Amino acid sequence: MKDDKINLLGLDRAALEKLFAKIGEQKYRAAQFMKGLYHHYESDFDDYTNFSKLLRSKMQQFSTLEVPQVVSEKKSKDGTIKWLLQMKEGNAIETVYIPEKKRGTLCISSQIGCSLNCSFCATGAQGFNRHLTTAEIIGQVWVAAKELGQSSKNRKITNVVLMGMGEPLANYARVLPALKIMLDDYGFGLASRRVTVSTSGMVPYIYQLKDDIDVSLAVSLHAPMDLLRNKLVPLNKKYNIETLLKACKDYVKDKRKAKITFEYTLIKGVNDKPEHARALIKILAKTPCKINLIPFNPFPGNDYQRSLPESVELFQNICEKSRIVTTVRKTRGDDINAACGQLAGEFHDRTRRSNTIKMRVS
Ligand code: SAH
Ligand code: SF4
Repeated sequence: MKDDKINLLGLDRAALEKLFAKIGEQKYRAAQFMKGLYHHYESDFDDYTNFSKLLRSKMQQFSTLEVPQVVSEKKSKDGTIKWLLQMKEGNAIETVYIPEKKRGTLCISSQIGCSLNCSFCATGAQGFNRHLTTAEIIGQVWVAAKELGQSSKNRKITNVVLMGMGEPLANYARVLPALKIMLDDYGFGLASRRVTVSTSGMVPYIYQLKDDIDVSLAVSLHAPMDLLRNKLVPLNKKYNIETLLKACKDYVKDKRKAKITFEYTLIKGVNDKPEHARALIKILAKTPCKINLIPFNPFPGNDYQRSLPESVELFQNICEKSRIVTTVRKTRGDDINAACGQLAGEFHDRTRRSNTIKMRVS
């Protein structure tokens, strides 16, 4: 039955090597197959003409090759592109490509919904729907690279950030193989520092990630003291700021030049005062890091407001005085609803909280 077959999109090199070994084939077939899939976007077994007909039919007996379908593509005035993608598992996923002068960043999702319920986050407000599969996670990169006409000579996607919908470390088992394919030369060949996992602070998985793979880490901090962070990021009650910062320091300890990016969503009157900025630079003083300030994007049903531009500027100035590089995230693609807090991935809601889900990306 088709449904019992393994989708080869989403298997990392080691898993593919195992599969080929099982059918009596050499290891190098895995690399050959990955090249076809991730460099030439071959999505039909018949495209793999360097495999014999017999081998292709053998593979089809136990596996499928299913790539996400593009439901729609929207392009913003500023060049930002948003795709709505569909896999057979159901629910549509949105992926956003943000071109800049020297780089192109793809923002992808790891879950539909999220159970961590941060009080400023539209995804959290919707509750958890389901984990994305590895095929759906890497499929977002596959579709974007194909649609952009990416080749080894013309690299459109230079960076991938897991800052779309969901908490990537809560879906660790499916995210890890996707990260491996992003870094693999036979996959997307991205440099370690250009693949960023963003987490709200799942401490045990920060250590696990450090052991398993070399990627950049962004941590959603949003507050410099526990009482306030407990309110914004409820996960803080389990892993408090001290524990989290220790994990961050350990994460970059033996990595040359590596820095943690601390994300800080600025909410008017809640966490955007000069005393918050001063407390923030104090607690970050011993961690190699940069700060990324994100003016809050309002969404229906939430009472928080975006910080005033002058508060954002003052906050940034205070941080920079401490010599921590501090950037303010620009709003991109808001004319196509692709900015932070504006994405609306349609999905069938199992929690019955809503018929659409709002998703924000960086
Ligand atoms: N779960 C992960 C990754 C997804 S959230 C995490 O929490 O890090 C990615 C970023 O989007 C987070 O840093 C979060 O602060 C930000 N974000 C969420 N909702 C937002 C909103 N309404 N306005 C601005 N940024 C938001
Ligand atoms: Fe989940 Fe991240 Fe949103 Fe928190 S900010 S609810 S962890 S997606």
